[in-house]
Amino acid sequence: MDYYHTRELLLQKQISCKELVQSYLSRIEQHRHLNAFITIFADEALKRARIIDQKLARGEGGNLAGMVMAIKDILTIKGKRTTCGSRILENFVAPYDATVIQRLQAEDAIFIGKTNMDEFAMGSSNENSYFGPVKNPHDPERIPGGSSGGSAVAVAAGMAATALGTDTGGSIRQPAAMCGIVGLKPTYGRVSRFGLVAFASSLDQIGPMTTTVPDAALLLNIIAGHDPLDSTSAPVPVPDYTKELNKGIRGLRIGYPKEYFSEGLDPEIHQAIRKVLREMESEGAVIEELSLPHTDYAIATYYILATAEASSNLARYDGTRYGFRSEGALDLSEMYCQTRSQGFGEEVKRRIMLGTYVLSAGYYEAYYRKAQKVRTLIKRDFDSAFEKFDCLITPTSPTTAFKIGEKIDDPLQMYLSDIYTISANLTGIPGISVPCGKDSQGLPIGVQILAKPFDEVIMLRVGNFIEKIKNGQF
Ligand code: GLN
Repeated sequence: MDYYHTRELLLQKQISCKELVQSYLSRIEQHRHLNAFITIFADEALKRARIIDQKLARGEGGNLAGMVMAIKDILTIKGKRTTCGSRILENFVAPYDATVIQRLQAEDAIFIGKTNMDEFAMGSSNENSYFGPVKNPHDPERIPGGSSGGSAVAVAAGMAATALGTDTGGSIRQPAAMCGIVGLKPTYGRVSRFGLVAFASSLDQIGPMTTTVPDAALLLNIIAGHDPLDSTSAPVPVPDYTKELNKGIRGLRIGYPKEYFSEGLDPEIHQAIRKVLREMESEGAVIEELSLPHTDYAIATYYILATAEASSNLARYDGTRYGFRSEGALDLSEMYCQTRSQGFGEEVKRRIMLGTYVLSAGYYEAYYRKAQKVRTLIKRDFDSAFEKFDCLITPTSPTTAFKIGEKIDDPLQMYLSDIYTISANLTGIPGISVPCGKDSQGLPIGVQILAKPFDEVIMLRVGNFIEKIKNGQF
């Protein structure tokens, strides 16, 4: 159930926070086989529920009173284990709260657990976790998408009302699409990343994963805004994201980039997105094709920049300061080497090697600097698109959920899963994925809406329209 309805029930005293938490805990128990959680806070969540029930009885509950949330295990909660899905942080306990955690807590959200994820958020299928793969509730033989797959599954299977994920190249939007929920990546700088374990610092953002667009807007209201603890967070005022949700789409100029509808796109997804475009046109939006000519370079650019940043960010896990240390080494460099060899999984090691390579003397100019230049060209494509259009509509992912194991031995195929989401990270613009139907196998399809920097309002408004059409409310 979405939080808006839950909140009504709570305020009318038809249900208590304690009962809510109990029901989510029993859903978690019933869905253990999906492997969505790494840590569950059963006792603490119940304790907090009792406190918030008392607050509600006094009429003092916060804006998220009784919202039961699942948190991706890459965000720190003080005193709690933060594993990042890795052996190297298996027993690492966070010494402080992430800013988003503090803000949610201040509004009386309840955290029910930390969710499974691809190791250090590297992956598109959730098969790269030290804690085992996560399974899609629509078909447990299939992947849920990644890297925020545990959060997506927790929400899709009703094990939490909402969740937080993180998105470096699509990790909120792609699993949201594959699990049939809403996932929003805010503009770079919109949400503080203090307390988010870094993967690629110029790309990472935290965002909501929810069953409805209004819930995503509500969460963004709480987590957005400047934070002096994160120098990349933007001092830009935060609008009320819920206010314009129902304004409709009449008169909006909406573009669809032709490069996003070409070879490699599943025909059923293509049809579903076309249908959305027709529905928007008949409601009075102006729909037009456009070109983003540098689209083809996005994946290559991303895998140079993201691996370069990751190799640098992950240098800190050396066995001396955090988490796992390999025993039995005879000297310091052997200890570093063994700790990192045993502590990191295969994909993480692949990326550290790639990243170290592209940053090394002699290759820096050819790869890293070149990729930075192409990044600027991709950004210019979007700048000129937004001179003409209010937002863009694309598929979120080229396929629906694929089988576990299907792409694990072919990293390049796997990397293509993010072909439609990655440009938003390279350019810093916001994106949202909203469910827009199912394929002939009953697997969810997501439509992506992209907007200009800090224009999440328009994106949410269009997303809300699509959601209402799908629910027959328009
Ligand atoms: N799938 C992409 C990667 O593996 C994106 C991951 C993410 O957004 N965290 O890098």
